[in-house]
Amino acid sequence: MGERVYNFYPGPATLPYEVLEEASQSFLDFNHKGMSLLEMSHRGKDYEAIQNETESLMKELLDMPDHYRVLFMGGGASTQFALVPMNFLKPGTEADYIVTGSFAKKAYEEAAKIGKANIAASTKGSNFDRLPAKEEIKLSASPVYVHLTSNNTIYGTQWQELPSFGGVPLVADMSSDIMSRRFDVSQFSLIYAGAQKNLGPAGVTVVIIDPGLLEKANTDLPVIMQYKTFVENDSLYNTPPVYAIYMVNLVLKWIKKNGGLAAMERRNQEKAKYIYDVLDQYPEFYKGHAQKEYRSLMNVTFRLPSEELEATFVAEGAKNGLVGLKGHRSVGGIRASIYNAMPVEGCKALAEFMKEFVKKNG
Ligand SMILES: *Cc1c(COP(=O)(O)O)cnc(C)c1O
Repeated sequence: MGERVYNFYPGPATLPYEVLEEASQSFLDFNHKGMSLLEMSHRGKDYEAIQNETESLMKELLDMPDHYRVLFMGGGASTQFALVPMNFLKPGTEADYIVTGSFAKKAYEEAAKIGKANIAASTKGSNFDRLPAKEEIKLSASPVYVHLTSNNTIYGTQWQELPSFGGVPLVADMSSDIMSRRFDVSQFSLIYAGAQKNLGPAGVTVVIIDPGLLEKANTDLPVIMQYKTFVENDSLYNTPPVYAIYMVNLVLKWIKKNGGLAAMERRNQEKAKYIYDVLDQYPEFYKGHAQKEYRSLMNVTFRLPSEELEATFVAEGAKNGLVGLKGHRSVGGIRASIYNAMPVEGCKALAEFMKEFVKKNG
């Protein structure tokens, strides 16, 4: 095996090495049953135990209200962009969207195809380098829900404090920062997250839902498109992505073993600080994309003085075992994705590399 690199890719992203080791051991023979988990029925006892435990761990780690449910769905977060309005944005109602990045915009655009969707606030004017202040958010008269994106993966901004709007149901795309910090789940009616950033491998989308939201849901949809189907059948109406759910289970156990969300939050702050400190130390060389108050602890985005230097930075980084640093085309430059599973040492190594790079090229 080659030496393990520090993987800064935005998603699929780095996973805890311990989790990969454990998964590899049970890959060929699960629970001494003489077969792989990949070959087992999703209706068997072995799998049932895994899925139930995964839901319980999510509930425990996020300290969720008891009546909330955790669903395991397919199709990625992008499918949720469509399912949320299909289920809740019925004719004669409207929904409000806070547009703070590319994924937030896609969520809005899907909703606009299905019903009356409003942009309650947008920070597109400054290429999504910030989040709107509370006063900038203009809700419609009685939205059925407000949708927001907690961490903007491409632009590197993150709500420092998640907003709430009285009794209006809040829906959040938390694909790139779920489990990275503590927050009050009861403030939200529905949360969704594609697993491949902070939860596990691609292939499963975790949905947290207050079942009360289903009372007004559209039931004229194909059953497989309804959240109700997943709630009533414990995500087993059809075959769930069993192996991806198993990997999420291992990641959640790793989080618990490492001190839960409070510990993740502290560690994520420490990790991001190594890199942001270098940006602040060399402001002539490294230009952070996000305004300081909105900096993400998960995705650090910045530019160098020229595109040529940026290409050199990415190439030399890779030679030094720091891979996946190229930014998204809509921001350019560099993006370091430093989710829960990125070790502190990886962030320190990147910060050191950045300092050396200025000395050589600044
Ligand atoms: C990656 C990402 C998505 C898209 O997820 P898919 O699982 O690829 O559909 C949506 N929202 C956010 C915030 C993301 O980071």
